[in-house]
Amino acid sequence: KRDKITGSRYQLFHAGMDEIRIQRAQLRDLVAQALENDEFRLMYQPIVALGSGDVVSAEALLRWPSGPGVAIPDIISVAEDSGLILKLSEIIFDQAFSLLARLQDLGLKQTVAVNLSGVQFRYQDIAAILTNYARAHGADTHRLIIEITESIFLDNIEKTQKTIRELSQHGVRVAIDDFGTGYSSLAYLQKLTVDWIKVDQSFITNINESNPNYQIVNAIVQMGQALNMGLVAEGVENLAELEQLAEMGCERVQGYYFSKPLSDSDFIAFASTPNHPWQSIVPEPKLLS
Ligand code: C2E
Ligand code: MG
Ligand code: MG
Ligand code: MG
Repeated sequence: KRDKITGSRYQLFHAGMDEIRIQRAQLRDLVAQALENDEFRLMYQPIVALGSGDVVSAEALLRWPSGPGVAIPDIISVAEDSGLILKLSEIIFDQAFSLLARLQDLGLKQTVAVNLSGVQFRYQDIAAILTNYARAHGADTHRLIIEITESIFLDNIEKTQKTIRELSQHGVRVAIDDFGTGYSSLAYLQKLTVDWIKVDQSFITNINESNPNYQIVNAIVQMGQALNMGLVAEGVENLAELEQLAEMGCERVQGYYFSKPLSDSDFIAFASTPNHPWQSIVPEPKLLS
C-alpha cells in the first residue's frame, strides 16, 4: 500500500511496479529540490472543544504550495524511503515550535499537534529531539501533542511504550490518528497510555443513528472513556454531524465546519477571535455513564 502513489494528479496512469518505482524516483528528486528551495509550509487546522466551543488546539498539516499536487502521505513516504525525511522533519518541527512560541508570547493557550510518521517516531531519541526544538524556540513541550497512527503498534510494543513514556515525562501528549482505519488490535491500545483518540473522518461523515458507523463511533467513545482517553472527531463538515457527536460524548471536533487549515497568522487571528458564529451553538457534550 505504501508503495503506491494514489489519489494524486501525479499518477498519470495505472502504474505497474516499474512505473511506480520511476515515479517515486522522480518525486524524490522533486522533493529534494523543493527542500533546497524551502517550498514546504505548515498550515494549522483549528480543533474545537465541545461545550465551551473554544479553539483549544491547532493541527499542523504539511503543504507544498508549488508542488505537483501529490497527496501529503505519499510525499512523506517518499521522503522516508530516501532519507529526505530528516530535512523535512527539521522544517516541520521548526515551524510548529515557532507557532507554539508565538502563541505563548501572545498569551494564547492553544496546544499544537504535529503528525509524526513511523520513521520520525522511531528516531533514535524523538523525545530529546523535540525538547531541543522546544528549547531553541522558547516553547513549552507541555503544549505539544504528537499524532501517530495505529501502524506504530505493529512495532515492538515495549519500545513504543518506552517512547511514549519518555514523551509524557516531558509533558508531550500523544494522539492516535485515523483511528479505526488501521490494523491495530484493541489489546495494544490498552497497553499504551495515549491521551487522545482521533476518529477518522470516514466514520464521521453523515453520522446518525441509522448509519452503521454510529455503533462503531459509539463503541470507540465508550472505550475511550473506559481507558481514560479523550475523543477527537476528524472531518466534521456540518452541524448535524456536530450535534450527533456531542450527544455521543465526543470531546473535541475538527473539520471544515469550523475551519480549513490556516496559515500561522490566520490561525492566531482565528484563535484570538472571541465569538465565532458557531460558538453559541456548540452543544454540551453529554457524558455517558
Ligand atoms: P490527518 O493527520 O488525518 O489529517 C487530517 C486531514 O483531513 C488533512 O488532510 C486535512 O486537511 C483533512 N481535513 C480536515 N478537515 C476536513 C474536512 O472537514 N473535510 C475533509 N474532506 N477533509 C478534512 P491533509 O492535510 O491532506 O493531510 C493528509 C494526511 O497527511 C494527514 O492526515 C497526515 O496523516 C499526513 N500529514 C500531513 N501533514 C503531515 C506532517 O507534517 N507529517 C506527517 N508525518 N504526516 C503529515
Ligand atoms: Mg493528524
Ligand atoms: Mg487524522
Ligand atoms: Mg485522517
